[in-house]
Amino acid sequence: LVSLKNVNKHFGDLHVLQNINLDIARGEVVVVIGPSGSGKSTLCRAINRLETIDDGEITVDGAVLPAEGRALAKLRADVGMVFQSFNLFAHKSILDNVSLGPVKVRKSKPAEAKKLAMELLERVGVANQANKLPAQLSGGQQQRVAIARALAMKPKVMLFDEPTSALDPEMINEVLDTMVGLAKEGMTMVVVTHEMGFARKAADRVIFMADGKIVEEATPEEFFTNPKSGRAKDFLGKIL
Ligand code: ATP
Ligand code: MG
Repeated sequence: LVSLKNVNKHFGDLHVLQNINLDIARGEVVVVIGPSGSGKSTLCRAINRLETIDDGEITVDGAVLPAEGRALAKLRADVGMVFQSFNLFAHKSILDNVSLGPVKVRKSKPAEAKKLAMELLERVGVANQANKLPAQLSGGQQQRVAIARALAMKPKVMLFDEPTSALDPEMINEVLDTMVGLAKEGMTMVVVTHEMGFARKAADRVIFMADGKIVEEATPEEFFTNPKSGRAKDFLGKIL
């Protein structure tokens, strides 16, 4: 569903993505893990075209990433993204946060978009907060709204970039549980996280990145119990 072929990206002299090759199948859940600065966020941002690439090719459902305009807006709608910071519209209600995108980009009727938004808010467990503003919700609730907002666009794939790292510990599980549910329903997902519990429960594959390269790929079981490379052993030694 998502395919990266020989993708390279530099920031000045820094070679942040070094000849990345990656194929993600429909329904697959891939966890990306690795040290700070290894290029995990840049990889996610490139898939969504928030970042340009120097060479190589990225396709989503067979289509090469468009550079701009309506085609790009459509691609962004197909690729849902959830960031560490929730990025909700501060002056709009929770319901509007989730329902406005489909009206604007997918040309849904407002009434239908609101109905879908309420269903999604129900599903992530915050329907009772629909008329509040983002600041009135906890971090965990806001992040679940951000997930609902991305889902409202009916994306083909969801990218999560450290979705729980800004949350207080007691709120991490409510967000991870929502993501596990999504994975079980068959959503294609790329998840940058160091939450091993999530990886074990939901991931089909773990990708370990270091210095802009994919150093290791394995099942979560294999990776966490028997990492092959020195870099991965070293890294796991630090986070476990
Ligand atoms: P972290 O775990 O800290 O989030 P990461 O693996 O997500 O790290 P990236 O954010 O992809 O790493 O960054 C990879 C490298 O590229 C880092 O060295 C970073 O400083 C650099 N970098 C990222 N964005 C830019 C930018 N816009 N301009 C210049 N350098 C950048
Ligand atoms: Mg990052």
